[in-house]
Amino acid sequence: MRAATLPESIGTPNLAAMATATKHAHAHHHGAALAEAAQAELEARGEQWTQLRAAVFDILNHFEKPASAYDITEQLSAAQGRRIAANSVYRILDLFVGSNLAQRIESANAYIANPHPGCRHDCIFLVCDQCGQAIHVDDDAVAAKVREAAERAGFAPERPVIEVHGLCTDCAAKSTVS
Ligand SMILES: [Zn+2]
Ligand SMILES: [Zn+2]
Ligand SMILES: [Zn+2]
Repeated sequence: MRAATLPESIGTPNLAAMATATKHAHAHHHGAALAEAAQAELEARGEQWTQLRAAVFDILNHFEKPASAYDITEQLSAAQGRRIAANSVYRILDLFVGSNLAQRIESANAYIANPHPGCRHDCIFLVCDQCGQAIHVDDDAVAAKVREAAERAGFAPERPVIEVHGLCTDCAAKSTVS
């Protein structure tokens, strides 16, 4: 299912959640709609949406912070009622990352579902040191600057990793109370 294309100008300021300076209808999906979009993207790549892959995606989709391969293996084994090998989970996660269905938060050694499996961006992650959640931000202008800086240094940038550590709004509010 494709999101309806937005008219060129919609009269309202761009939301921070929307990628800046992109020419496509950039939409973030959640919940069941995200699982549907992920399945469509994987199948468009000629891969099957197997029961086990769907179960791994479901765990990522409902985890409230980035999930480690260990977290996923534990939840998956419990949900399936049998021991699932960590290697099977790693293979599925590799497939998901390569297919743009999931993203790896490098500094947390964990994974999150990609809310926009249909389009690629150099996504920025804001990682809360208190609660561990990772907030996904798209700002193509920032990522382009990072790529430019790398190129100026004679480096061929393959995959910029932009992760910012700090406190999320909730945790920052809690830490100023007391
Ligand atoms: Zn996009
Ligand atoms: Zn993104
Ligand atoms: Zn937090």
